[in-house]
Amino acid sequence: MTLKVENISAGYGEVQILWDISLNVEKGEIVGLLGSNGAGKTTTLRVITGLLQPIKGKIYFENKDVTNLEPYKRVELGMSLVPEGRQLFPRLSVFNNLKAAAFTKRAREKFYDTLELIYNLFPVLKERRNQPAGTLSGGEQQMLAIARALVCRPKLLMMDEPSLGLAPKLVLEILNLISKLRNEGYTILLIEQNIRHALKIADRAYIIETGRIVKHDIGENLLNDPDVKKAYLGL
Ligand code: ATP
Repeated sequence: MTLKVENISAGYGEVQILWDISLNVEKGEIVGLLGSNGAGKTTTLRVITGLLQPIKGKIYFENKDVTNLEPYKRVELGMSLVPEGRQLFPRLSVFNNLKAAAFTKRAREKFYDTLELIYNLFPVLKERRNQPAGTLSGGEQQMLAIARALVCRPKLLMMDEPSLGLAPKLVLEILNLISKLRNEGYTILLIEQNIRHALKIADRAYIIETGRIVKHDIGENLLNDPDVKKAYLGL
């Protein structure tokens, strides 16, 4: 198993946000963690990446307990995050944004090999490699944010709302691209509020509401689930 989150509770100061969250991601899957604004998706990611210590519970990555490991050590093990809002360096070129992402030893050693792989996946980034990241379109910036996470040769790619702020046509493009990454062998934890679209590409998904997992099933079943339809799909 690539990722196992076991009974996580967490919060900020006195305020508890997450209650007994358990989920897992198997190698080669896209697993969705889906819910509305404020449901606790980003907080769950903060615990998984090590930016927030849980009150209780455990995180296992490839069967190793990483609950107390520093964030950068988790990246070295192969856990990479595509952060919400992309977090690019807008004045740096596409190439230099990618170079700056190579902060682990393994990423630096393999940088030019990985770059070739990235340029094959995203030809538009190759075309625009010398252009400042801030001049790219929204969809291209999201591709660059994903590419930055790939620089660290992840075994698990975690994406925080990759469709946020994109025009509807680009949302579909980015989700297709995420599907393509899975077909190339990547393992993906996808955080989304765009539940309808995310369920179309996810193998399985968890629905989170006010800090609790309320449903877990394969994507197709959730798309047809009456509660999900009513609460999230406007049907
Ligand atoms: P979004 O789509 O807005 O990111 P989310 O599902 O990711 O939503 P979280 O960001 O995890 O939700 O937020 C869950 C709850 O935790 C919200 O009620 C939010 O106000 C609260 N929260 C988030 N960050 C902090 C913080 N640093 N301090 C206190 N409360 C916070």
